[in-house]
Amino acid sequence: MTPLPARPAERPGRGRFTIPVSTLASGYPLAIPVLTITGARPGPRVGLSAMIHGDEIEGLLIARELWRTIEPADLAGSLWLMPVANPLAMEMISRNTPIDMLDMNRLFPGAPDGWLSEQQAHAITQGFINEVDCLIDIHAGGTFPWVDYCYVLNDEPFSRAFLSALLYKPATMYPGTSAASALARGIPMTVVEIGGGYHDQAEHVKNGVRGVVNMLRYAGALAGVVEHRARQLLLHDIRVMRPRQGGLCVPVRPLVPGTWIEGSQPLADIVSPQTFETLETLTTPFERNVVVLSRNYATRINPGDYAFMMGDGSTASWYD
Ligand SMILES: [Zn+2]
Repeated sequence: MTPLPARPAERPGRGRFTIPVSTLASGYPLAIPVLTITGARPGPRVGLSAMIHGDEIEGLLIARELWRTIEPADLAGSLWLMPVANPLAMEMISRNTPIDMLDMNRLFPGAPDGWLSEQQAHAITQGFINEVDCLIDIHAGGTFPWVDYCYVLNDEPFSRAFLSALLYKPATMYPGTSAASALARGIPMTVVEIGGGYHDQAEHVKNGVRGVVNMLRYAGALAGVVEHRARQLLLHDIRVMRPRQGGLCVPVRPLVPGTWIEGSQPLADIVSPQTFETLETLTTPFERNVVVLSRNYATRINPGDYAFMMGDGSTASWYD
């Protein structure tokens, strides 16, 4: 990481503000909450955003733990937490924003005169992403699948400091993500994918807090030695496996992200809820596969939905 700017010391303590977006049809104001923890010493302003997708609560849980455990006195610079970047989507447990049904994370940097999701993305870009010195955006697997990996985008050690076993360096990032807004500014940026599905998220939250605290050390916002995780696996190619037909997705067996699967193996049957026939069987796509996202029990699935994600083990590399 090129040294982050040491902003002059501000008044230490905990604070809160909102970023106004719009007025809803009902007259209620739509605004994005931001919680701030400010240290007494100069240092960088680290931004952490969560719930750009409203069915990914894990980042909110991680932000809450950070808010509860990080003391202003321990911090150099500040930590800005955006626990709920898409409040309407959170209310509906929906990936997309309910009013326009758009995926906000394909619309950054947004537009002040666009769809509501675009207006919201614009407000977040202006009021948050453009105001921080580095950014961690937390995502998860959503309602049914679960994941555990971290993107490598423009600062490899920053991403590694989250301590995921799996990292992913895409050839090109999806356009319109919050990452694209941050990358355009040239600030260190990473996207974390952690947890999801119907199980206790406590372990993910614990790992998430540990990872973010380690990134804060790396960024110089917290004192202490940066923890190093040996043998992290870097994936260059990930295949999203989407069924052509909907129904029940019935996995062959539960899978943990990071598991290696050799050769072509069945992962799950898509079963018709009307006839109980198997409509299609999803199988591993690569010669050597690394589980990135999985569904661990029978769940409803729509055609085209995220069923599994597999990394290509043949092109992956290990860090020391
Ligand atoms: Zn997401």
